Amino acid sequence: MKKGRVFSGARPTGRQHLGNYLGAIQNYVALQEDYDCVYCIVDLHALTTLETTLDLTSNTYEMALDWLAAGLRPDQSIIFVQSHVPQVTELHTILSMVTPMGKLTDLPTFKEKVRQQPHNVNYGLLGYPVLMAADIVLYKANLVPVGVDQAPHIEFTRETVRSFNYRFKTDVLIEPEMKATEFPKVIGLDGQQKMSKSLNNHIELAATPEETTKLVMTMVTDPQRVRRTDPGNPDICNVFAMHRVFSSAEEVAMVNVECRRAGIGCVDCKKMLARNMNAALGPFRERRAALSQDPQAVWDVLHDGARRAREIAEATMVEVRAAVGLAK
Ligand code: SF4
Repeated sequence: MKKGRVFSGARPTGRQHLGNYLGAIQNYVALQEDYDCVYCIVDLHALTTLETTLDLTSNTYEMALDWLAAGLRPDQSIIFVQSHVPQVTELHTILSMVTPMGKLTDLPTFKEKVRQQPHNVNYGLLGYPVLMAADIVLYKANLVPVGVDQAPHIEFTRETVRSFNYRFKTDVLIEPEMKATEFPKVIGLDGQQKMSKSLNNHIELAATPEETTKLVMTMVTDPQRVRRTDPGNPDICNVFAMHRVFSSAEEVAMVNVECRRAGIGCVDCKKMLARNMNAALGPFRERRAALSQDPQAVWDVLHDGARRAREIAEATMVEVRAAVGLAK
């Protein structure tokens, strides 16, 4: 017996990196045991910021491939593409009628996007949280695993559900709870900013062992440690943060002590990390290589997921349309 339903969506950003894995995907995989999970590649959301859609389909495929290789199981979870379930756009329109404009313009994420792309402040960008709310409530999700930066959107969703249910005197829509991810911010190779493709400070899960090692060797360490003989501070070093994820407890304890007394150099420390990272990613890479032999099988998973998602979505929309009073 599952505890409830989880929904989460991510934009089709192509090959996934360590930040995606540690911040979201590993959590997705773990949740499958206890929850009925609905995982969506939100290609419509991506349209709000994309300059070109030329890579949209290939990025959707590569992301699905990584999700499956990382352990998302279509026999346990619904894995699909947002635009394959048109009911979400219908619910988006209906929810937009109970959404005050000021709420949307006040959201910090909207203000940030306006700063990032002042040349393209489109309507979709403003309505993004409404579409996200539609994504979640369409599947009557109880729980949404997200990074802490997404907290305002979940609160917005809860308020939207209350507004809808109050306005139409119904209890059709469910208020979801947020589940903050345990590894909320993965720092990139620069040692400062969140790991991201756009900042080119990332390591792809599908990178070869050689590529991975090369990138690990470029990681920024404790900036105060200039010479090999200088003691370092692992507490402010991103290499050490990664050791905590990929290395054994003994190795972490050893680095923690030896770094502080200059007993280990950064080059050796990084080589150890690269070795452990490659060992941990080995099974993922094998599964990915096997799955990539049959791209159609990946699309079949997504299409079957969309079919199952549409069944839930349509059942919700039948209730929503009735609650609103739309003609049958
Ligand atoms: Fe960072 Fe390791 Fe160098 Fe210490 S020895 S500063 S933990 S890379």
